[in-house]
Amino acid sequence: MMPVSFSAWGEPTRYVNRAGRMTMRFFSYELQLRHAFNLAKYQRTTTPDVQVEIEYEGVVGYGEASMPPYLGETVDSVVAFLSRLDLSRFSSPFAMEEIHEYMDSLSSGDRAAKAAVDIALHDLSGKLMGQPWHKIWGLDREKCPCTSFTIGIDTEEVVRQKVDEASPYRVLKVKMGLDNDKETVEIIRSMTDVPICVDVNQGWTDRNQALEMCHWLARRNCLFVEQPMAVDRHDDTAWLRERSPLPLIADEALQRIGDVRHIAEAYDGINIKLMKSTGMHEAYKMAVLARALDLKVMLGCMTETSCAVSAAAQLSPLADYADLDGNLLISNDRFSGMKIVDGKITLSDMPGIGVTPLSV
Ligand code: MG
Repeated sequence: MMPVSFSAWGEPTRYVNRAGRMTMRFFSYELQLRHAFNLAKYQRTTTPDVQVEIEYEGVVGYGEASMPPYLGETVDSVVAFLSRLDLSRFSSPFAMEEIHEYMDSLSSGDRAAKAAVDIALHDLSGKLMGQPWHKIWGLDREKCPCTSFTIGIDTEEVVRQKVDEASPYRVLKVKMGLDNDKETVEIIRSMTDVPICVDVNQGWTDRNQALEMCHWLARRNCLFVEQPMAVDRHDDTAWLRERSPLPLIADEALQRIGDVRHIAEAYDGINIKLMKSTGMHEAYKMAVLARALDLKVMLGCMTETSCAVSAAAQLSPLADYADLDGNLLISNDRFSGMKIVDGKITLSDMPGIGVTPLSV
């Protein structure tokens, strides 16, 4: 039943159905990074973020939009999108597919804003069912992968400090795309033998040098290479994939489920992130499609609180690789949630996305 209905003639007849009413609240929350984040193209010390709560029948679901600048969304754009939403059209938070169709009818972008709503709806509906989402999806939490811990582009001193900090992790993710890539790997290799994976963030420009680096990295216990070349270098990436001893994973080249088939022509796998996929609903479909196409599945995140990271972790039994360390990179988390135990993602029986707000 809709909360309000109108008679065909005269004054509207109003039915208030409080049980069928969702209330949404949201506010800006700037994430403070523990270390300045250096990528091939820029540096930053904070990440803009909007926190969302949706309440229904006295139960609150939590969601979040994180907006690293290269994605093109801002606090203003997310607040504007959320302000346009009319959730009173929907009878309950279980109308997930319809709510996504409605959000996509309002705009083709705003992916992080949509993800915030999606995560809050999943948290809320999971709590109403009394089950965590990995169980609702029928996934085996014993299959959760280890998560990598990210080592950014930095000075030797900071790289050494971060490798020390990363000692509980069984995979290190190394950011690349500068002239000193090999030096960074050599520093890490002088300290630890744990497998590495590398994220080039589109930084390699010459395909022959990229191939040489893939061979060099393969001899140094590297698992895969993420986004080696620019997004528009699809054919060069396909050329590299034919020859590379290491799998190539698409990140910036892929946003939503409609991109997966095209990506399968040039890459061996996809990095699914909730802030790109519009949340858990489509991320789940993407993971299932990717597996059907024999692609590797990686689950990634932005710098986020434990809210969005724990939401992504619910999907992690479907992933070959996970890079869910975004909450560890900030100093002002608002939630406790998914835990890393001996380097491995560990899911609890807590319903929804499995988070508890911290008193901050
Ligand atoms: Mg990446």
